[in-house]
Amino acid sequence: MKTAALTDVGEMEVQEREQPTPEDGEVLVQVSACGVCMTDFHMYHGSFAVDTPLVLGHESAGTIVDSRAEGFESGDRVAINPTIPCNACSYCKRGETHLCENNTVIGGAGETILDGAFAEYVRVPKTNVEDIGDMPFKRGALAEPLACCVHGVRQTDIEQGDSVAMIGAGPIGLLLLQTFRNRGASPIVVSEIDDDRRELASELGADHVVDPTDEDPVEFVKETIGPADIGVEVVGKVPTIEQAYDMTAKGGNTLIFGVPDQDATMELNPFDIYFNEIDLRGTYALTTEDFERAVSLLKQGRIDSDTLITEEISLGDLPTAFDRMANAKGLKKIVRPGKDV
Ligand SMILES: [Zn+2]
Ligand SMILES: [Zn+2]
Repeated sequence: MKTAALTDVGEMEVQEREQPTPEDGEVLVQVSACGVCMTDFHMYHGSFAVDTPLVLGHESAGTIVDSRAEGFESGDRVAINPTIPCNACSYCKRGETHLCENNTVIGGAGETILDGAFAEYVRVPKTNVEDIGDMPFKRGALAEPLACCVHGVRQTDIEQGDSVAMIGAGPIGLLLLQTFRNRGASPIVVSEIDDDRRELASELGADHVVDPTDEDPVEFVKETIGPADIGVEVVGKVPTIEQAYDMTAKGGNTLIFGVPDQDATMELNPFDIYFNEIDLRGTYALTTEDFERAVSLLKQGRIDSDTLITEEISLGDLPTAFDRMANAKGLKKIVRPGKDV
């Protein structure tokens, strides 16, 4: 079968590999669509170090072509949850499978990384596939990033009618925006540099948008809606995390959703946290529950996913896709492993 393998930092090649064989309790999925994510980008560029050669790709959907798992048969259309928890550590026992100490991830970041879905076929435990009915595969491939958004929203104390101020409206920011709206956030303000992305944020549910190169987004939020019950950062940079924090109302939550550099530090005034009771929260990956909820939202058409998919590419196009991501060109890129687009 054809795969796109990372062979070194900045080097990816289409390689022929042996088709995997499922073991007991597993299924073999023919991959129809696999999203390209910033995690792949970081692994490609070496800012997230991994052992090579490795097949990346952790946002996928396809058709079961071989099943050694009860309840699943050839022809079933599924989305793949890439995170395989150990189910033995204390985090797993508490249901916090995303914090598992010994997790294994199919094509994504984890303690142990298995070959992923930038390939024609991938082997998956039955616990990690979710039926997607008849939705298009490229929509099913958004189940994983949407599950991260579902998880992020659940990390906040949001109630219907709570105001949300978000910084960053890239592909994942635009998914997160819709997830917050879906959960009853009102009003929502989005700060985003790029004109097209800002416009799309308005179309997808932001009540107000601001260009941070034009005016101070913190002032804009305070003047337009007042301090936000929830301030969310979807960029991964210290200055924008500080902005999200400065936008947050007393008693509110600041959510760090963007992935900051591992060695980044920031200054905080502990008196403000004490006096204003601001809750600074992180959100990492997804649980099995989040994944199921995300698939349900996609099945019922509660999320506009198709607008976010701007490119469908083949395995050999990945290096070009990474270049486009570096320049914030387009939105979600979907690899179609079986098909030359
Ligand atoms: Zn991802
Ligand atoms: Zn565990």
